[in-house]
Amino acid sequence: MLKPNQNYANLKDSYLFYNISQKVNAYLADHPGVKLLRLGIGDVSLPLCPAVTEALHEAVDDQAKKETFHGYLPECGAPFLREAIATHYKKRGIALFTDEVFVSSGASDELGDILDLFDRSNTALIMEPAYPAYVDANIMAGRKILHLPSGEENGFLPMPNEAAKADLIYLCSPNNPTGAVFDKRQLQAWVDYANKNGSVILFDAAYEAFIEDDALPHSIFEIDGAKECAIEICSLSKTAGFTGTRLGYTVIPKALVRGGMNLNAMWVRNRTTKTNGVSYIIQKGGAAVFTDEGQKQIKANIAIYKQNAKILMQALDACGISYCGGMNAPYIWLKCPNGFDSWSFFDHLLNKAQIVGTPGAGFGKCGEGYFRFSTFGSPADTAEAAKRLQKMFGG
Ligand code: PLP
Repeated sequence: MLKPNQNYANLKDSYLFYNISQKVNAYLADHPGVKLLRLGIGDVSLPLCPAVTEALHEAVDDQAKKETFHGYLPECGAPFLREAIATHYKKRGIALFTDEVFVSSGASDELGDILDLFDRSNTALIMEPAYPAYVDANIMAGRKILHLPSGEENGFLPMPNEAAKADLIYLCSPNNPTGAVFDKRQLQAWVDYANKNGSVILFDAAYEAFIEDDALPHSIFEIDGAKECAIEICSLSKTAGFTGTRLGYTVIPKALVRGGMNLNAMWVRNRTTKTNGVSYIIQKGGAAVFTDEGQKQIKANIAIYKQNAKILMQALDACGISYCGGMNAPYIWLKCPNGFDSWSFFDHLLNKAQIVGTPGAGFGKCGEGYFRFSTFGSPADTAEAAKRLQKMFGG
């Protein structure tokens, strides 16, 4: 008899966004017509930039003409986009072969799919608080998870623990939800630890474009020895507003070998078996992000989100509420004031200030007592929320 994957029974219900929407809907039913200030969303609010939309339009026209029409493209990505991404890395001093860059439909898809490369008996170490998909993808695969909690004592940047060895190590920097960013010295410690133990680091760099401190690494491949132990998963979702357009990329160095097997070659085999790649049109739009014009335009959008962050940080400073993130990340992770726990703070903000945020407890146990604001909302709503926060907690 067919037996479904029993590991799915081990998944915990994800109450976070369901609970938020239930509470928000109940509030709106009781207060019809009230406008909520939404600082909970992890989705972008600004549209694609003109360089991208022009490229998308041109690519649609290409597909309408016999001479420029494209059928299947190479599964691992169109050469023009793989080259554009490798050149982008080169500008940061990282030399990659173009066939070390794999085009994907986004980081979520890739974070799940990449697990095909690893045996189920491997353990996965997950720094927490964490993006919930890391845990769930490994539970689905039946893998043992080691939780690595972090807190204020280490600036939400946990360091390797020699006592807790793991085969796969998830690092997310800049971090969702805390906004914390590893510096080079800290990442070097992780790379050294991974190489010493034969582990592989899965480095989620979905928010690298928000780093403004030149000393902080955008890529794990800025670290010595990383090509021997790391896979980098990146996305244009937040970098360039591709959440609904879908495009990402993954870097697997050819030097990454475990148990005599080359992970780059394995991933080529995986992709050529399991996907026919990303659409020509979307890859053309993605390539426009890496042009000079595209870079200028996406940076102008990111600057708008950064201004939101600045306004919220000023309000929190004025209220004496401690937080991390905001500077080099689109999230602000604050300590709930006045002894509130995550959910009671959520209720308080919703009921008293019509602000919707995200309770930290939804990102793992060590997120209790914390709260996440996203800076991806509209500038007007963000400014109004900052004003209301200051009125409520400004003393
Ligand atoms: N990784 C992190 C840390 C995220 O926060 C997100 C989305 O919010 C993703 C990956 C997924 O990105 P994508 O839209 O490329 O699937």
